[in-house]
Amino acid sequence: MIPARGSERSRTQRLGTKAIVATCDTGAMTAPASASLDRNQTIVTLDMEGVLVPEIWIAVAERTGIDALRRTTREEPDYDVLMRYRLALLAEHGLTLSLIQDVIAGLEPLPGAAEFVAELRQRTQVVILSDTFEQFAAPLMRQLGMPTILCHRLVVHDDEITDYRIRIDDPKRRAVQAFQGLNYKVIAAGDSYNDTTMLLEANAGFLFHAPDNVKGEFPQLPAHEEFDDLLAAITAELG
Ligand SMILES: [Mg+2]
Repeated sequence: MIPARGSERSRTQRLGTKAIVATCDTGAMTAPASASLDRNQTIVTLDMEGVLVPEIWIAVAERTGIDALRRTTREEPDYDVLMRYRLALLAEHGLTLSLIQDVIAGLEPLPGAAEFVAELRQRTQVVILSDTFEQFAAPLMRQLGMPTILCHRLVVHDDEITDYRIRIDDPKRRAVQAFQGLNYKVIAAGDSYNDTTMLLEANAGFLFHAPDNVKGEFPQLPAHEEFDDLLAAITAELG
């Protein structure tokens, strides 16, 4: 595994001048190699559910009274099995996409989340990396000022959710790798197991609102509970 910290210099050295020339290859945009090595441009990647907004399926379970929808990856680690189970429940109870979107529209970002995202976007680029679906994320992204989000997509026919499409396997880690391949320093924050490959791949990774078992398994990842603390930790990593 790549350590969360201290990997930036070795990565930059691996990329070498070739990568720098490839991304800054014309005229005044060409920076001296030494300056680029000292201060990479940055992108912050953030998980959504549990970090910025409540867990969507839990909210749907509460609103509809269908407790079976509370089942998560902790009870069913196979995501496809879990999603097939959820889609079957939606069909059984006649829950349409518009009803679920109505539930989601009633959710608010976690206290302080919108201000945190707005402040962070004043300082650097921010991309949300989530395992949710475009159709679920839309009402929440509007409340967060429409940051860029990379996630998956539901298959919907006449308001019925019939299937889902995973855009790519291990999407969070691969997004971090892709940004690093563009010579960005990546700073990441997330709360759960599905974030850990992203956090470990990033040049700096932080746990935020993480449960004790995740903190215990990944002691190399600094953990924060308050947005102000996370903002300070991320800011300290900016070039
Ligand atoms: Mg999460």
